Amino acid sequence: MEEKIFDCIVLGGGPAGINAALYALRGNAKTCIIDTSTLGGQPVNYLEIENYLGFPSINGYELSEKFEEHLDKFNCEKFPNEEIQFIDLTGEIKIIKTLKNVFKGRTVILATGASASKLGIKGEKEYIGHGVSYCAVCDGGFYKEKNVLVIGGGNAAVEEGCYLTKFAKKVYIMHRRNELRADKIVQQRAFENEKVEFIFDSIPLEITGENNHVSKVSYKNLKTAKTDTISVEGVFPYIGFTPNAKHFSGQIMQDEKGFILVDSCMRTSELGVFAAGDVRKTPLRQVITAVSDGAVAGVYAVKYLEELKTVSKKEILSA
Ligand code: NAP
Repeated sequence: MEEKIFDCIVLGGGPAGINAALYALRGNAKTCIIDTSTLGGQPVNYLEIENYLGFPSINGYELSEKFEEHLDKFNCEKFPNEEIQFIDLTGEIKIIKTLKNVFKGRTVILATGASASKLGIKGEKEYIGHGVSYCAVCDGGFYKEKNVLVIGGGNAAVEEGCYLTKFAKKVYIMHRRNELRADKIVQQRAFENEKVEFIFDSIPLEITGENNHVSKVSYKNLKTAKTDTISVEGVFPYIGFTPNAKHFSGQIMQDEKGFILVDSCMRTSELGVFAAGDVRKTPLRQVITAVSDGAVAGVYAVKYLEELKTVSKKEILSA
């Protein structure tokens, strides 16, 4: 196992991580970026991004490629497809062990993002890959002329629901309230789409199938308490995200859902540890806000490294 030493270790290669690495490198810090998969993060799966400044409409994969190309102009050591074994953020030297390497550094920027939350209902886990999907862009094409159900009322549910109408005969969008959380412009598009039918005030109860594939979903109307069933061949839960923090949970302060608490400089409760993007507690999770977080984290990681050279740990703590 190889030991690798850096000034700044960025964990997570999505927009937040890539920009954090970029800023750290521009600050002359020897920086690496580690990801459990390839670089790119969540936007890789977004068909179209319409709210990244400077790009009125861009495919998520294309934007991610541009981010990585930009990073490649700097001397960043990239470690994709690393399997994390152990993380210790508590010492002055932070340690990240993967199956292949041991990374050591004085600063770590946590930009591990978040993953699709699960409904936790019967049949969900059993039918993943057999009708249950968390990625309309990846799997939408399998549902030509079929009925599908999207669950959730946020931007993701409503946008992906509309996207699925390109293939599906009918797209039901089930939301637990009668008011959507999605942006008004996104809502309007869905209301105007003849293939979309909303099921409000309702939650799914169970996903059942035939021949090893989803065929029905039972659900409950929370206002009337009545239960019913719809026939669908695809179920796409879009009910928000859970932070990817399992390897370091408990070592830094997090909220009740596990999102990392940071100050305005993206500093976590642990000295030398910063967090950026969807993994942190934030009111808005967009590509542009992740990128912005990354910039702040990168700059303050560099500042911290500089301070380490001149002042004592005690002084940094009281700053
Ligand atoms: P979100 O905005 O948090 O919405 C999650 C939705 O799921 C809410 O409507 C919520 O209902 C519902 N929900 C949560 N838990 C549930 C449960 N257990 N059962 C049933 N329903 C449940 O999440 P999101 O849509 O994934 O978006 C996350 C972030 O990404 C947001 O900041 C969003 O703006 C951003 N995003 C942006 C774009 C874009 O700009 N192009 C695209 C996708 C996502 P309630 O409303 O009742 O809480």
